[in-house]
This record gives sequence, structure tokens and C-alpha cells, in this order.
Amino acid sequence: MSILYEMYETVIGLEIHVELLTKTKLFCACSTAFGGAPNSNTCPVCAGLPGSLPVLNRKAVEKCVMLGLALHSDIARCSWFDRKNYYYPDNPQNYQITQFYAPLCTGGYLETEGKKRIRIREMHLEDDAGKLLHRGKKTLIDYNRSGVPLIEIVTAPDFSSAEEAVEFLRKLREILLSLGISDCKMQEGSLRVDVNLSVKPAGAEENGVRAEIKNVNSFSELVPLAAFEKKRQVDLLAAGGRPVQETRGWDGRTQTTFFMRRKETPRDYRYFREPDLPALALTDADIAAIRVKMPKSADAVRQEMMERFGISAAEAAVLQKEPSLYALFCETYALQPDPKRILNRLLQEGTAILRKNGQTWEDVRMRAVDFAALLELGVSGRISLTTEKALLQRMFSESFDPVAYVRSQDLIQQTDEGELMETARQVVADNPASVRDYLAGKDRALQYLTGQGMKALAGRADAKRLQDCIREVLEDLT
Ligand SMILES: [Zn+2]
Repeated sequence: MSILYEMYETVIGLEIHVELLTKTKLFCACSTAFGGAPNSNTCPVCAGLPGSLPVLNRKAVEKCVMLGLALHSDIARCSWFDRKNYYYPDNPQNYQITQFYAPLCTGGYLETEGKKRIRIREMHLEDDAGKLLHRGKKTLIDYNRSGVPLIEIVTAPDFSSAEEAVEFLRKLREILLSLGISDCKMQEGSLRVDVNLSVKPAGAEENGVRAEIKNVNSFSELVPLAAFEKKRQVDLLAAGGRPVQETRGWDGRTQTTFFMRRKETPRDYRYFREPDLPALALTDADIAAIRVKMPKSADAVRQEMMERFGISAAEAAVLQKEPSLYALFCETYALQPDPKRILNRLLQEGTAILRKNGQTWEDVRMRAVDFAALLELGVSGRISLTTEKALLQRMFSESFDPVAYVRSQDLIQQTDEGELMETARQVVADNPASVRDYLAGKDRALQYLTGQGMKALAGRADAKRLQDCIREVLEDLT
């Protein structure tokens, strides 16, 4: 980027719409299931028929309060709903029921991994619109989504880069998933992100005029989006122009933003209090009851794993990210409570095996009971580390009993001290050159001699014990 662009800072705020995982819609008993036949999940309320009356879904309130508690927001003891009036074919009532004057949650924050605290302005409940499907010259309307509950999360303009915003979104998604609030599927529209972006001269106090950008389809698009939009706004300022408040769309194909409409002001929507719904009152006891129901946060779950198994934060994070791996770990731990050894095999050897086979943890066929038996064979010294690793690799793709297999293939380690000494003496006798090297102080010769011995025993020995025997024989020579 040229000097011109470096003279400006990017300022980003996010507006995030999250579709809630409730069984029914926000103001009626219609199903929220995704993918049903068009207009099959509709009723007079969500189809906007005159005379129908909304009834608030308690579960949606609960989920919004949970998110508010997780993000340290103030939960309103009294909030209410307002009508946002606008006409559009996907909006059959001609208004959206939202919370404008008294949102359920205000304030709060979320800390990114980099420990930057992003302030939340407010979070409120509202209902979703239907979907328009454009087919050539015709447009079809599907009201299945009409009335699906949404939480709108509005952040302060606290991000100074798209990368920070992505970090925030990842963390937020983790919280939404662990609380069971939303499935966060961007491709199905259950998580939608609008980006408010402005530029200002570096170091300036006041923020510039922002553009709101819609149609972001994945977190990774935020980086090129912010780069394009910063350049557009700086170019405009440099040419003597002034950015205006506008709504723009992101075109992922061309990696550009395009003008959609001038930004509406609250006045355009003529907000007024929804007359068909009573105020939403919550007592301290109501909120306490919701807090009790909250699943543990991802952070708390990791902390618990670290304490229970004595593992590191990084190891706990890996286990948390891979449910199949975590299940295998826990089942094995129940049989063989040696978390260090289990994790070492799974994370070191296991990860390498997966990479080699092009597999994921979901593909692993190994049963915990067999894995525990394999570990036991290793711990007791009955098989060598080489055999253990070779078997582990096979067990990732096929399920079998390692104990029976080791017996049938005669892989039980040669543990007889006499035979090990015999092999050691033989190796020393057969390799005079290496013996001379060793006696001349070349330690690597000992490795070579051990390798020869392991070969002679077809790998059925503990390499370390064999090496001790060889060292003993060599020391007798001096
Ligand atoms: Zn309905």
C-alpha cells in the first residue's frame, strides 16, 4: 500500500444477526426447521394476516439472556418490542418486530485472543424476514423464514483491522455454539455479518462517515472486503470527495463492494412501540434461573480438562476442537488412566498417521478398548516401541485386538536377559570396525551396533535394554 493509504486508519464495527436454535418461531408456533417445502411452515401470524396476534417465545428470550450473561451485558429487567415499519415483499406484515427503544441486553464486551476488549453496544431480539427467490423474470417468496428468531449483536467501532474482526467472530461463534444458541451456519444464513467501515486520518479522534457492507459469506472475505473499502474511501477523500452514509454490497466474485442504497435513518422507519405485545419483564430470580441452565463456556470446559487430566492449555484446545479425538481420549483414559501417554500417542504418532493417510479423527476406526490394550502391551514391555507404533498405524484404519494379533504374529518382545546378552556378544563379534570406532570414542557406533542387534532379533526387543547389554559387552573389552 502506498503512503497515501498508510495515512489513514480503518475503523470497523460489526452488526451480527444470529438465527436462534429454537424449535418454533419468535411469535408463533411454526417450526423453524431449515429446508422445508416453501411456505409449509407458516401461519396467520408469520404470514402477516390482519387480526393475528403475536405471542413471545420464552426460549428465545432465554437464549438472548444467556448470550448477554456470557458477554457481561446488562440484562434489562424491563424491555419491550417496537415496530420497524418498511415495505418489502419478504416482509408480509409491512413491519418487523424488533427492539429499538429498550433492548434486552446493553453493554458488555468480548475479549479477543489478543486480549483486546471489544465493546458490545447492545443485543436485542427481532424476527427474521422471508426469502425471495429470483427465477428469471419471476420472483418467488418463501415465508418459512418469516418470524424465525434472531439476536442482533451490535459492537462498538472498536476494530482497527479486519483480522481483529475475524478473531472476534471466531470467538463469538465458539460461544454461540457452546451455549447452543445457534448452529452458526453462514451458508444457511444462520449467522450473518454486516460490516460498518470508515476511515480517518491516522491518530484523529473522530471517526469518518461509515459505509455499511452486506452480503459477507464467510469470515475470510472480511480481509479483502476491508482492503477494497478502505482504498475506495481513501481515494474518494483524496480526490476531494466526501463519503456518505450508504449501504453497500460485497461481491465475492470481483472482490469489490457496490452501492445499494443511501443509509436509512431511524426516522425513516417510524419506530413505535409494538401494541400487540406486553412489556418483557424479568426478575432477578428469572435471570438467576437462566444462568443456572447455561452450559459451561468453552474456556471453562478447557480449564476443567486441564485440571482433571493434568494436560496443557494447548492440548485441551486440540481435544476441544476434535470431538471424536476427545471421545477416544476419554474412553481410553477410563481403561488406562495415563493421560500423558495417551495424548503422546494420539497427538504425536496419531496426527502424523492421519496426515499420511489423508484422514480426519472422524475416520479413525480404532476402539478405545483396543487402544488401551495396545498401550498396556507397551507399558509392560511386552512389545517394543517400534511394534507399538506400527500396530497403532494399522489400528487407525482397521479394528482388531492387538493382544491376539501380537500373539499370533509372534511379536512378543524378547525379554530374556540371556538371549539379549547372547545377541549383544554376537553383534560385537561380527562388527569389529564399529567396535573400534566405539572404543575410539565415537558414540554413534553404539547406535549402529544396537540397530544390527535389533535386526537380528527381528525387532522383538526393547532397544534400550539391548543397547545396555551391548555397552556392557563393550565395557568388558576395555
Ligand atoms: Zn407462524
